[in-house]
Amino acid sequence: MTFHTKTSLLFAVAALGTGCVVRAGDLPVVAWQGRTMGSPYTVKIVDGKLTDAQVNALKTEVENCLKEVNRQMSNYQPESELARFNQAPVKVPFKVSADFARVTRFGLELSRLSDGAFDPTLGSLINLWGFGEKTDKHLVPPDGEIRAAMAKTGWHHLTVTAADELVKDLPDLALDLGAVAKGYAVDEMIRVLQGHGLKNIYASIAGEVRVLGHNPNNTKWALGITLPVDQWRENDPMAATVTLSNQALSTSGDYQKFFIDAQGRRLCHIIDARTGTPVRHPLAAVTVVAPDSMTADGLATTLFVLGPEAGMKLIDARAAAAALFIVREKDGKFRQIASAKFEALTGYKP
Ligand code: AMP
Ligand code: MG
Repeated sequence: MTFHTKTSLLFAVAALGTGCVVRAGDLPVVAWQGRTMGSPYTVKIVDGKLTDAQVNALKTEVENCLKEVNRQMSNYQPESELARFNQAPVKVPFKVSADFARVTRFGLELSRLSDGAFDPTLGSLINLWGFGEKTDKHLVPPDGEIRAAMAKTGWHHLTVTAADELVKDLPDLALDLGAVAKGYAVDEMIRVLQGHGLKNIYASIAGEVRVLGHNPNNTKWALGITLPVDQWRENDPMAATVTLSNQALSTSGDYQKFFIDAQGRRLCHIIDARTGTPVRHPLAAVTVVAPDSMTADGLATTLFVLGPEAGMKLIDARAAAAALFIVREKDGKFRQIASAKFEALTGYKP
């Protein structure tokens, strides 16, 4: 299987079929994979009592909930609520689903916390740099075009009303929730499965992972954080291994979606909202652990923009969250810097 994730589950799963029961440790596991938001997703449930019919029903419910997230927040579906809001007229309140409003509010909270380094209104810039839904052409745009795209961004131009309406005061403002929506979708998968009384669950979309309870060995879930290299393969060394239960893990980095410009600079898909250009600092990746996936996902992207110093201050101020920064050194080696609570929350010390 090609499983492009920044986090790898550290136990061998014999076969990942459609809802098949496999023995990966002492306890039976139901596992399946699918695709959503252009990425693979995985579900594993440690439970010996589920019948095939129940597993199929769970799968359908999870798929439907992922479809619903996309119907609300996808950048790629022209009929999504988000796409329609981006086309909608300025200053007219646009009613959206409660969850879409909640995810947008969280995006704006991250903007406030990071002084605008994180910004959920960067759609125009992301497209300009070739990382959006409109093009995958990777060219450095002329300064004038960067300035013009920046003029179409700004979290201050977006508000969410108490009645779950989005209002923009800039005509071409383009909302992009790519930094938080996958994490939110993982939380939704967990919510659906928990709703059926399931307690021991692994759910992931690409690098967003959340685990509940215990793994098939009846211990915490062991997750490997991959080295931030361009072509990581399943058996390559891990940067770190963490053990988690009832927590979420998210990694943001510059080593999966990027291009190299004529000067040999690495230009990645995470844009510094304050400069309008891809983030350029020695940080290769940052992994965040938090109680839920939306929080971990949003914080990981935020910390990646802020870099290790400002990022450390932000993460240390939060309860129940921690980060591991992986810095690229001049000789190509990596240096790890953990935030104050990382070891206590994950069992891993650099
Ligand atoms: P992630 O992979 O979770 O770090 O999210 C990266 C995605 O978030 C990008 O593909 C863009 O869609 C979006 N994005 C890029 N830069 C920013 C930023 N500064 N603030 C908010 N979202 C961003
Ligand atoms: Mg993110």
